[in-house]
Amino acid sequence: MTDTFEGVIRELKAKRKEERWKNYDTWKRSCCCPDCPSYNECASGGRELLYCILGMSIQCVREDRHCICKECPLYSTLGLSGKDFCMKGSEAAIRYERSVE
Ligand code: SF4
Ligand code: SF4
Repeated sequence: MTDTFEGVIRELKAKRKEERWKNYDTWKRSCCCPDCPSYNECASGGRELLYCILGMSIQCVREDRHCICKECPLYSTLGLSGKDFCMKGSEAAIRYERSVE
């Protein structure tokens, strides 16, 4: 069975960078992070979103106050399996970490 996330990455890889960013910007509109208790003013000011794809918060989210990613419409669309992406890194990074013994 094809893994949904791998399929998403395969499709992204086939696109030019400019096209990829159009995808990211579209997905950002559905990102629920601003409703999450862990999300803060710093993250909002930096317009940080879509951590599951773009990676962890560079300097804003440091305190785990819960994660609502599993309630996000993108969670199943993108075939995600992790959580706390703002603090742990993207789904791809989390999958890589899992693969390291
Ligand atoms: S799964 Fe989480 S990080 Fe990804 S778009 Fe949804 S709320 Fe944002
Ligand atoms: S990735 Fe999860 S924990 Fe981080 S802000 Fe988004 S919903 Fe909250």
